[in-house]
Amino acid sequence: MKTISSLLNKEDHERYTRISKLNIRSSIYDVTNKCNLRCKGCFFFSSGEQDVKEEKDVTKWAEFIDREKERGVNLAILIGGEPTLFFDRVKAFYDRLPTFCATNGLIKVPRDVFPDMMVGVSLWGDEEAEKVLRGKDTLSLTLKNYEGDQYTYYLHTIIPQQVGTGRVERVVKKLKNAGLKVHFQLFSNDEDAPGFVWTPELMTAVRQEMDGLMDQYPDTVISSKYYHQIITTGKMLDRTWGWNECPSVTEPIDKRDPQPRHLIRFIRWAADLETMHRCCTSETRDCTKCKDGAAHMSWVMVNKREHMRSSADFKNWVEVYEMFAKLYRFIPW
Ligand code: SF4
Ligand code: SF4
Repeated sequence: MKTISSLLNKEDHERYTRISKLNIRSSIYDVTNKCNLRCKGCFFFSSGEQDVKEEKDVTKWAEFIDREKERGVNLAILIGGEPTLFFDRVKAFYDRLPTFCATNGLIKVPRDVFPDMMVGVSLWGDEEAEKVLRGKDTLSLTLKNYEGDQYTYYLHTIIPQQVGTGRVERVVKKLKNAGLKVHFQLFSNDEDAPGFVWTPELMTAVRQEMDGLMDQYPDTVISSKYYHQIITTGKMLDRTWGWNECPSVTEPIDKRDPQPRHLIRFIRWAADLETMHRCCTSETRDCTKCKDGAAHMSWVMVNKREHMRSSADFKNWVEVYEMFAKLYRFIPW
């Protein structure tokens, strides 16, 4: 095994030192089963994950979060449904743990209550695509809520129709002009919305496009070329993405044998505070088609040793870990 010092130059070693102390232990929480949108392709509603009782007593949420903290969780990722429909529950997390709130952005997070809470606003394609997939152009509405917000980035889910048309760059420019950051992932299409199909050629093209935008807008795009490579090819080192490799499976119900490297103590909790969902995304999704960005970046992060075979591989590992740490504001953008 090579040593870290032998693999990295001075500058990259400093970057490594900065992230190596973080020891991130995240879990994901469905804050509610309700949403103020119904997007075509929503992993939550397409998988029946909303069919559990919802805990309504905020003191029960507070007690639950205290137990999560004792379990070692140091990053709470709030999803739903739409978390901002229940700010009392969001506050219970925010008061106790570093908290990231994934939202469709239609309801503004009040910054007097949550001054530094990280917010990730979802964006599916662009204005035109959102009208088809989400029933309205949320981008125009959410920009009014989040323009210039220092603790917000947009999670831009790229759709196949955008590739090679300049429609991704137009969105990036719009966000840049609004003083916001953007991170990319790819549409998984959990409800088979017609026409939203990835081909190998589109995957190659979107990788090149994401790489180019990262070079062109380095202060706006938070990403990594290695992440682009992994998410578009489904390959990491000599391995292929799928159920047997996924790191984002709820630990206590993970019966895979052999066990792949996975996120330690990770659980995705339902809003009843009792049910554990299979993984960070849809319980019914075909893993071979899963494009979940966080799961793919975690795949890299948990496989640190495997990347220590060469300087180039380990530098890639550092870049992806650094990107994750930036997205959740463990280190500055
Ligand atoms: S905003 Fe999110 S939770 Fe709500 S329907 Fe759309 S994808 Fe699903
Ligand atoms: S759907 Fe995606 S995140 Fe869930 S287990 Fe499969 S590969 Fe992992």
